[in-house]
Amino acid sequence: MSDFFDKLKKNIDKGVSKASRKSAEIAEKTKLQTQIMSLKNDKKNEINELGKVTYDMLKEGNLDEEILNLKFESIMEIEKQIEEKEERKENVEKEVEEELEEKEEVQEVEEVNDESEEITCPNCGEKNPQEAKFCQNCGHKLKE
Ligand SMILES: [Zn+2]
Repeated sequence: MSDFFDKLKKNIDKGVSKASRKSAEIAEKTKLQTQIMSLKNDKKNEINELGKVTYDMLKEGNLDEEILNLKFESIMEIEKQIEEKEERKENVEKEVEEELEEKEEVQEVEEVNDESEEITCPNCGEKNPQEAKFCQNCGHKLKE
């Protein structure tokens, strides 16, 4: 009978820890989102800068490809960081889902059934603990 309440309590405990873990993951996701936004802003500025530098160079009739390539590479680097962070954000989202789907395997511990481990005395019918060699009531030998 108490089994039902044990299970209920376990589920409540589990719900609480799951919720706190979930909020930690949501915080992580928010942090990543902020970083991604800031990186996207950097990328936009860098592209603007590249345009301006290119414009100045063309105006002066002196296109320095090396400088342009360096600028381009730094933009590519920012893009790579954005991709990495977006991947991490997806992983965090996946983890939240997986945890929610997780079964209760760990929590399912077999309750020890005392009844089945008792030895009923064949002489008087008294229930004795499994380790008893003689009946506690009549002294009848229970085990070899
Ligand atoms: Zn007995």
